Amino acid sequence: MIKTDILIIGAGPTGLFTVFEAGLLKLKCHLIDALPQAGGQCSEIYPKKPIYDIPAYPEILAGDLTEKLLEQGKQFEPGFTLGERAETIEKLEDGSFIVTTNKGTKHQAPVVAIAGGLGSFEPRKPLIHNISDFEDKGVEYMIKDPEVYRDKRVVIAGGGDSALDWSIFLSDVAKEVTLIHRRNEFRGALDSVEKVQDLKNQGKINLITPGEVTGILGDPMDHLKGVVVSQADHIEKEFEIECDHFIPLFGLSPKLGPIANWGLEIEKNAIVVNNALDYQTNITGIFAIGDVNTYPGKLKLILCGFHEATLMCQAAYQIINPGKRYVLKYTTVSGVDGFDGTRKEAPKAVVKAIN
Ligand SMILES: Cc1cc2nc3c(=O)[nH]c(=O)nc-3n(C[C@H](O)[C@H](O)[C@H](O)COP(=O)(O)OP(=O)(O)OC[C@H]3O[C@@H](n4cnc5c(N)ncnc54)[C@H](O)[C@@H]3O)c2cc1C
Repeated sequence: MIKTDILIIGAGPTGLFTVFEAGLLKLKCHLIDALPQAGGQCSEIYPKKPIYDIPAYPEILAGDLTEKLLEQGKQFEPGFTLGERAETIEKLEDGSFIVTTNKGTKHQAPVVAIAGGLGSFEPRKPLIHNISDFEDKGVEYMIKDPEVYRDKRVVIAGGGDSALDWSIFLSDVAKEVTLIHRRNEFRGALDSVEKVQDLKNQGKINLITPGEVTGILGDPMDHLKGVVVSQADHIEKEFEIECDHFIPLFGLSPKLGPIANWGLEIEKNAIVVNNALDYQTNITGIFAIGDVNTYPGKLKLILCGFHEATLMCQAAYQIINPGKRYVLKYTTVSGVDGFDGTRKEAPKAVVKAIN
């Protein structure tokens, strides 16, 4: 059982900033995210796009913003359960909650902050009749640990940034990389397309376009052995490729998912909160912040998530420390005491007599 003060569901920008604001109040956080990495939409959908409306950053890449948020929260030693979806919630008699993931990991906290954005991202799966038989037996829809593919034969399908970037990365790790896309044209960053072209010319990536994986080979009780590819050139032809892994990267579609069944008030796929006060939901102790919530005038922007996280933490403090008064102090005055023993503070004023 993982125990913490605030259990945050969703490690997007809102969840990550909550760690910092909670840390200032000496509250410890643990984050659960269905994705294998932190950053939410910023790292999954548009890591290389510049954002122009983060206060004090005239321009910052979404991936860099994620790095900065992680760095800012690191001193408060957050825990992470990544690659697991929060599935069920149970309220105990003492008012605390137990949240269990799809992999059975249990977390307990007196306060739950849902920062689930548009919901948990579910992979778009190709329509191959026997694909589900080989999930986790060689078929993976996300790359969690690239080392799994070291010296293996890998077939990647897809035509976007993910398929291009992972093909480039794995060309240095795997024994063999084949990239299959149903069109000749790729929809990704120009430099990635050019890099794949270079690697193809060097014989480091096998490129099959236009082509489509239409079958999986192997015994469903065992690991996959290969894939069937249909290639619609001038004449339609079908052939087999032996491989150890098949990774379809067709994007992710967000779904509110299991959270929708937690008894929370939902309006148009978003969680209704009390925005006049603290972004609490209809269940005491469960808050919803960032893109996942709704209230009159809601804007789905990163800076709004930051603001909501800040106010939510004040209410969480009251739940965790009943009756205790918290006096807001500027970080410029109080400094920041990390849970890791670090201390940041502005230089003290010098007291010195002047003759
Ligand atoms: C292409 C694009 C460009 C954008 N540009 C801008 C911009 O310029 N400026 C701006 O302010 N905003 C922009 N946005 C919007 C911005 O990205 C969102 O407002 C922001 O990501 C919301 O942050 P969040 O942390 O609330 O949610 P998200 O970033 O969506 O993160 C939520 C996380 O929760 C996880 N999750 C959900 N449910 C579960 C569950 N049950 N279990 C485990 N994990 C779960 C998800 O996997 C996800 O990682 C843009 C969005 C897109 C798509």
